[in-house]
Amino acid sequence: MSLRLEHVTKRFGDVTAVNDVTLSIPEGEMFGFLGANGAGKTTTFRMILGLLDPTEGTITWNGHEINYAKSHLIGYLPEERGLYPKLKVKEQLIYLGRLRGLNKEAILKEIEYWLERFKVPEYAEKRVEELSKGNQQKIQFIAAVLHKPKLLILDEPFSGLDPVNVELLKEAVIDLKNNGTTIVFSSHRMEHVEELCEHLCIMHRGKPVVHGALKEIKRSFGKKNIIIHAD
Ligand code: ATP
Repeated sequence: MSLRLEHVTKRFGDVTAVNDVTLSIPEGEMFGFLGANGAGKTTTFRMILGLLDPTEGTITWNGHEINYAKSHLIGYLPEERGLYPKLKVKEQLIYLGRLRGLNKEAILKEIEYWLERFKVPEYAEKRVEELSKGNQQKIQFIAAVLHKPKLLILDEPFSGLDPVNVELLKEAVIDLKNNGTTIVFSSHRMEHVEELCEHLCIMHRGKPVVHGALKEIKRSFGKKNIIIHAD
């Protein structure tokens, strides 16, 4: 039972964004994609989500091809954060929860839980534009998990957050993982994934250059923190 990418390639004209990626992400695991800008992480996520079709290769989840029919089981924090600035946080989340097929009562319960958990219950009545970028990111994270997805894809979830919020978010994803959610996320920084992931894939120009168990990767790199720089 896993998310499986087999020989997945995505080309945009002459640009090969993702180049022959084969890997498995076991159910219930937290899996990190590391790589510099342009490495192909976001394109890989968009294919997993069904937003883009692979040029070649297949993506399956528990043996079946992922398609829109299953997309309600997936939660997504996109790299481009996008909320309606004029709406109050509560109105925004109710709208997004309804799109996921939830009723208002269930959504309000989730909103209360998550805003308390992120120590910002007063944000429910604030307009999105009143919040800092980091706090908007937390609201978008809540939007991604409102419907309790089985698979959660987080594109650079820690970028732009201060250390306190990074910790709050890390604790949240650990709890979700412990409750059985499969989590896939991307980062530029090894330190953000090393305490969370058992397995990871380091991508460079669309190719997985290293892929496997974190312990093994750290051993082969021979140092504790790996920071991925753009060329
Ligand atoms: P970042 O952290 O900057 O988002 P990334 O690892 O997520 O980097 P991608 O966004 O997947 O990388 O981009 C991989 C390559 O594919 C880049 O060279 C990018 O310019 C190119 N690319 C991505 N989407 C498109 C598109 N729709 N059309 C053309 N080229 C694209």
